[in-house]
Amino acid sequence: MSGLEKKFATKSKIVNYIINKQNTSKVEISKDLNLSMPTVLSNVKDLLEKGIIIENGEYESTGGRKAKSIGINPSYRYAMGIVITANHVGMVLVNLKYEIVKSDRIRLKFSPDMSYCGQISTLVEEFLKDMKQREELLGIGISIPGIINQDQHLVIKSHALKLENYSLSFLEQALSAPVYFSNDANAAMMAEDLNIYKNAIYLSLNQTFGGAFCINGKLFPGENQKAGEFGHMILVPGGRKCYCGKSGCADAYCAASALIDENTESVEQFMQQIRSGVEEAEVKWEEYLDYLAILISNLRMAYDMDIILGGEMGGYLIDYMVPLGEKVMQYNGFDHDLRYLKNCSYKKEASAVGAAKHFLQEFIGKM
Ligand SMILES: [Zn+2]
Repeated sequence: MSGLEKKFATKSKIVNYIINKQNTSKVEISKDLNLSMPTVLSNVKDLLEKGIIIENGEYESTGGRKAKSIGINPSYRYAMGIVITANHVGMVLVNLKYEIVKSDRIRLKFSPDMSYCGQISTLVEEFLKDMKQREELLGIGISIPGIINQDQHLVIKSHALKLENYSLSFLEQALSAPVYFSNDANAAMMAEDLNIYKNAIYLSLNQTFGGAFCINGKLFPGENQKAGEFGHMILVPGGRKCYCGKSGCADAYCAASALIDENTESVEQFMQQIRSGVEEAEVKWEEYLDYLAILISNLRMAYDMDIILGGEMGGYLIDYMVPLGEKVMQYNGFDHDLRYLKNCSYKKEASAVGAAKHFLQEFIGKM
């Protein structure tokens, strides 16, 4: 590392540290990051001058003079995230503290035609219209349910959008900001704090079931960008038909769509039935938790790492960790507790947040 690179790395490290704290002090930064006080002082001075961090009151200290408390200025920069699905477009605006400051979800059927790119462009302009200083927008991250080649800006394959070798260049050109594309499950995992997790599996339990995992805080893409497709592991030989063409895939049992039938229109409605004790729904829910428990147990055996329950179902499962945990324990005799089973940080639009975060992290990394 050159001297200049080292200087940048130190500043990024300090900013990352401050982002993850509500507020902190120069002494605390120096202690926790193992940096000399002069290094901390000069970096903090520079960050304050630029407006990236702000003084936000006094910091509690044990006796003596109270130290000035500092925190990140969340409105210094923003990034937008978009989730594209077969029938919807979700949009979020995320600040430098990784908080969603605005979100919207619109029904729009995906189409591979040029007109769709135009529609997205109009939606984005409408969504961003009250943003006064557009230069504060770092870029737009777009989450796509499919296998993405990021270098060639190509969707290699998407069952959900019925695409194969589809160029994303038109979509990119239709937007007036730098664009980054990501697979939906990978993006959802990126929404989590990978400084905390390091090694973890993310189950993105939406209408379809995507997966991702990270090793040493970095997403593991696999040789062909296909790693983490847990949804298409066979859970029940000869079982339910999966949209991918195979039978018995985990997707057909653990995705949110597994809970919807002719009696229920949406997962929200299904969960309402569970809360009101509708017997048929309860039977189905037991079965759902059971299959999910088998999958969790198998993944834990293979990877020995934390498993994060995400996606639409991840949000609902927060209230059902006890019955799910009991089932997991029945299948897994190797672990004596379930601390490895985690709830996701963003119950809604995690993929959009993760895709947006790409630009925020890039910005921090270049400081
Ligand atoms: Zn499948």
